[in-house]
Amino acid sequence: MKPYVSVELQRRVRQRFADCCAYCHTAEDLTATTFEFEHIVPIALGGETTLVNLCLACPMCNRYKSDQVLVPDAVTQTDVPLFHPHQDRWADHFAWNESSTEIIGLTAIGRATITALRMNRSQMIRVRQMWVAMHQHPPTFAD
Ligand SMILES: [Zn+2]
Repeated sequence: MKPYVSVELQRRVRQRFADCCAYCHTAEDLTATTFEFEHIVPIALGGETTLVNLCLACPMCNRYKSDQVLVPDAVTQTDVPLFHPHQDRWADHFAWNESSTEIIGLTAIGRATITALRMNRSQMIRVRQMWVAMHQHPPTFAD
């Protein structure tokens, strides 16, 4: 069962992440889905339903993340923490490629998070191409 997230807390999380997925930066209003309030540290591991442990996540990032907190990095062959949307700066770990259709991992955390959350799925690249053509992508919010 999903924990209750108050309307006020939902508003604050949405504001913090500018209605974008905290991981892949997809803007919710470009999709036909409702984004989810994701527990960064899963409830199963003691994570609480508080602003500092919640982020806005698209349904796919949320599903692929699941209860993971450590993920393997293929380059260093070690398990590294997943990107933490409150403690880490997106731009320190990720960048857009030249066409803004693929996310590049700048660090082990960035690379491992991209792989674990499948942030560059072929479907996402295709839809990002359409958003770029519409001048709607990438989002401009900074975190
Ligand atoms: Zn996402």
